[in-house]
Amino acid sequence: MAYLRALQTSIKTLGGVGPAAAKAYAQLGINTYSDLLLFSPRAWEDRSKVRPLGGIQDSEMANTLVEVLAHTYFGQRSAKKRTLKILLRDVSGQGDGRLSLLCFGRNFLEKSIRVGAIYYIYAQVSINRGELQSSQFELHPATEDGSFPASFGSILPIYPLRGALTQRLIRANVQKVLDSVERFEEELPPTLVAEHSLIPMDEAIRIWHFPPSFAKHQKARKTLALDELFYLQLIARRRKGLQERTVQLRTANPTKIELALIESLPFALTGDQITVLHEIRKDLATDIPMNRLLQGDVGSGKTLVAWITALHVLSQNAQVAFMAPTELLARQHAESGAKLLEPLGVRMAFLTGSVKSKERKLLLQAIADGEVDIVVGTHALFSKEVTFKNLRYVIIDEQHRFGVEQRLALMEKAEVPDLLLMTATPIPRTLSLTVFGNLNVSTIRTMPPGRKPVKTHLVNEQSRKRMYQAVGVEFSRGHQAYFVYPRIDDSGESELRDVTNMFEFLKAEYPDIPSELIHSKLDDEEKMSILKRYQSGELSYLVSTSVVEVGIDIPNATCMVIEHADRFGLSALHQLRGRVGRSNLPSYCFLVFGDKLTDEAKQRLTVMKESTDGFYIAEKDLLIRGPGEMTGTKQSGFLRLHYASLTEDLPLIELARAEADRVLTKDPALLSAEYAVIRRTLAEAPPFALESIEAN
Ligand code: ADP
Ligand code: MG
Repeated sequence: MAYLRALQTSIKTLGGVGPAAAKAYAQLGINTYSDLLLFSPRAWEDRSKVRPLGGIQDSEMANTLVEVLAHTYFGQRSAKKRTLKILLRDVSGQGDGRLSLLCFGRNFLEKSIRVGAIYYIYAQVSINRGELQSSQFELHPATEDGSFPASFGSILPIYPLRGALTQRLIRANVQKVLDSVERFEEELPPTLVAEHSLIPMDEAIRIWHFPPSFAKHQKARKTLALDELFYLQLIARRRKGLQERTVQLRTANPTKIELALIESLPFALTGDQITVLHEIRKDLATDIPMNRLLQGDVGSGKTLVAWITALHVLSQNAQVAFMAPTELLARQHAESGAKLLEPLGVRMAFLTGSVKSKERKLLLQAIADGEVDIVVGTHALFSKEVTFKNLRYVIIDEQHRFGVEQRLALMEKAEVPDLLLMTATPIPRTLSLTVFGNLNVSTIRTMPPGRKPVKTHLVNEQSRKRMYQAVGVEFSRGHQAYFVYPRIDDSGESELRDVTNMFEFLKAEYPDIPSELIHSKLDDEEKMSILKRYQSGELSYLVSTSVVEVGIDIPNATCMVIEHADRFGLSALHQLRGRVGRSNLPSYCFLVFGDKLTDEAKQRLTVMKESTDGFYIAEKDLLIRGPGEMTGTKQSGFLRLHYASLTEDLPLIELARAEADRVLTKDPALLSAEYAVIRRTLAEAPPFALESIEAN
């Protein structure tokens, strides 16, 4: 008997897991048996249906019976250097499609794969000048009477791979761990299992990885997802108590100084901005600390809303901290905030790691004495040396970039400040409403008027030239551009080489156009000074790594060129594209990709081409990546769901919620025999730790 989440044996004890594999596993967050079982396949390969060669499309999988027709050779003439090509014919009884196996480096197959023999084949097929070919295939001899062997017909898990890992190794490791556990402990109350005829936990885990059928697999997923959602709800509810009753202490009406700011703006607030302002003011007026997420697409006007609400609090003699994830962004916020607020008599300060010695001391003193109203900075704001006189309101920009620890450090600072988290990476509604019981959400859906959606082009090598011309035209109109490279590895070396090459190349392409290279190896001062020159228009384009990803606001930039766009995640692409289209000028995003695209990459690029709606993109991101892999969830301490899908499991989420309510209403302390299972699971291996919920 064991709990799924209590298996702490190291995966290094498994056969075939040497240092390289262990390292790759670690990169995937897998260190223990438990981690491995919770590692979800990204798909399951269906070898249970015959997929004959006739009618097969490029890059599809064939799953059929074949007869070996002939051995031929291609490439070099010499017997050593030539490559074996095996011609096959479909004999499954469904057409007589042909396939050529290209046996690169595997000429030895000519001995074992005999002409005339029948095989079961599972192969990835490509179509090359009308010929069906495959260089990735598995062959298994057919039975004596020429039909499918036992290896046909299974459904195999496909895991995400890293480094030294192979499907074969992971499958073997998972199987081994499953075999090592005699029975997995039931985690759901027996009544719930019975009422919904759920399959037991013990079967569910095994079926999840190696399903005997897709129908069974669905049932297994239901058990696992419900288990996950039920405990999530239960813990969240138990912790916070059901929604507390609030008492209004202060006015929720806009104050004089807020109105003064709103009137000074050269534009009117959008309807959504007005709505969310009202929601936030109402929270700020009550006795319970605000815990609100403000979501809205890049450029939708969140930051402005944040400043206005800061003013709301200032009229109560309180201090406000405004935190951004990077030095660059913090400085930008400090500057634009000062422009907006200082004319109203607000005392602003800027504090990051780069503010040094003497200046720093003075600044810290002023904050402690309450001589500063709003402090803008990075997480340096919440280091030990900083004490506020009366910190009442904390605003965090691009909150998904912050780690749990930073947020906890922050919580220790003041009594309990009001908290506004801002993000341009929207959290799908199902998640925010049901999962984070105590986190309220405000949403800005409409953009300020006059914004034109960024036109997105997918660019392959053939159309690269035309892209350069198009960007050149924008330069001639006095507009600016970004050329972005992905972070290619952790060392940053090859990344640097790429941007450096690119920089030289572009200098030749645009001989008289001033530009700069910006990357992570530069220190913050240098980065800032380059950005300043870019902002002033002195530089026409920046060649950079993804440092420009968040928040930078340069309205005159109209072109975003993203190289290796297929290597970026959807949310990063969306963020990057959000750097342009920040004015009334028409803007363009060019997504440059190579010829070897994975299915996922293809889907991502298509989504980017189709839509500029951050909410749509976030939902798609969830769908493409599957359950449990939402943007930044791991790093941010957001909950990571393994089995439940936040977009598709609304009924299960509701069920889990109702069940958690029922249990807690009936037996808040979980003392009855009926709930012994829950009590034990919570004690031994709860699916969610308390921290992961409290962090939000
Ligand atoms: P976000 O923080 O959501 O990315 P910002 O608050 O930085 O967006 O706003 C982006 C730009 O749009 C800023 O230049 C801001 O002054 C401007 N802006 C904000 N609200 C409006 C509005 N209602 N109408 C026109 N422009 C606006
Ligand atoms: Mg912003």
